Amino acid sequence: MSTTVAPTVIPVPLLDLQAQHATIRDEVMPLVTQVIEEQGFILGPLVGQLECAVAGLSRTRFAIGCANGTDAILIALRAVGAGHGDEVVTTPFTFFATAGTIHNSGARPVFVDIDPATFNIDPEAAGAAVTSRTKAVIPVDLFGQMAPIERVRAAVGALPIIEDAAQTIGARRRIDGEWRMAGEVATIGTFSFFPSKNLGGWGDGGMIVTQDEVLADAMLKLRTHGSRKTYFHELVGYNSRLDTLQAAVLMAKLPHLAAWSAARRANAAYYDAAFADVPEVRTPVIDPANESIYNQYTLRCERRDALQAFLKERQVGSAIYYPLPLHLQPCFAYLGYREGSCPEAERAAREVLSLPVFPELSAAQRDAVVAAVRAFYGR
Ligand SMILES: *Cc1c(COP(=O)(O)O)cnc(C)c1O
Repeated sequence: MSTTVAPTVIPVPLLDLQAQHATIRDEVMPLVTQVIEEQGFILGPLVGQLECAVAGLSRTRFAIGCANGTDAILIALRAVGAGHGDEVVTTPFTFFATAGTIHNSGARPVFVDIDPATFNIDPEAAGAAVTSRTKAVIPVDLFGQMAPIERVRAAVGALPIIEDAAQTIGARRRIDGEWRMAGEVATIGTFSFFPSKNLGGWGDGGMIVTQDEVLADAMLKLRTHGSRKTYFHELVGYNSRLDTLQAAVLMAKLPHLAAWSAARRANAAYYDAAFADVPEVRTPVIDPANESIYNQYTLRCERRDALQAFLKERQVGSAIYYPLPLHLQPCFAYLGYREGSCPEAERAAREVLSLPVFPELSAAQRDAVVAAVRAFYGR
């Protein structure tokens, strides 16, 4: 079969960071230059300013910058005392860091299945997995919408809840009639500033939030080798600080976050409508209590791999988050899970495909994505 190439191909990358940079160059460069002139690269004043700003956004008492979103989870796990002999319950349908950090804390990851509608952890399954050895539970706010934190809380009692909000900074959820921010109601919330997150730096960065002063104090120590007073170490921690240069970039970007997330929601609504009559495609299900920030716009679809190949041919970017659930990863074979242990996570891994949803997407690009998906299914 010969393919006819359309006269005007509009390439659509999955994410276009250059397009975003072009809109904020004049705001970000002076702050970056200021850091360079001051040469205060480690925990300079902008780190404290960003911590205050993120605590304000998340409505938490404390925010602690750290080197990346992975360390944020590891430091949170250490702060709640997770270690050898402990178990930590989490979802297998997430980025590797969620469970890699559990292993690296010394504890044992315990995987429970997901809610097939939202892809987030099934709270009742999490509750059922709690044993006398369980030290914490890590729900993940996947693709931009919060996990049902209040239902996880009801299911696991007083156990520490570490909310992996790497994909969800600024998202919110209505709980008992009140809007609650990502990170606000968990015991500890963790964010990532990896460039592809909604608030992305020029490299790695992360942040931990909590309402608990004792935990905040422990996590402040853990990010700097377990010391508050230089060269005196109360515990063994990490070198996991947020660079002042990253804080400068993030301070310049933070005022735009709400508008960027709104633009992502508008793109998502456009796709939802455009795919409503395509039965082979199921558009994202957002829990009615949630306002998503759409870090990803993730379809479930028939003949997923063929659709992805077709999109690639038309220069439309897409990605599979995530192709192999964590309970089936080779490195976790020692945990003894099998195909069938978490059937909903396994099915999701076979069916999901994420489409370009970044805020700077042009109308023409959006239409190119829609046309390509519709054409694949013969519409
Ligand atoms: C990105 C991400 C992380 C890790 O963040 P890094 O900053 O890359 O270390 C953890 N969990 C989830 C769900 C993520 O998406």
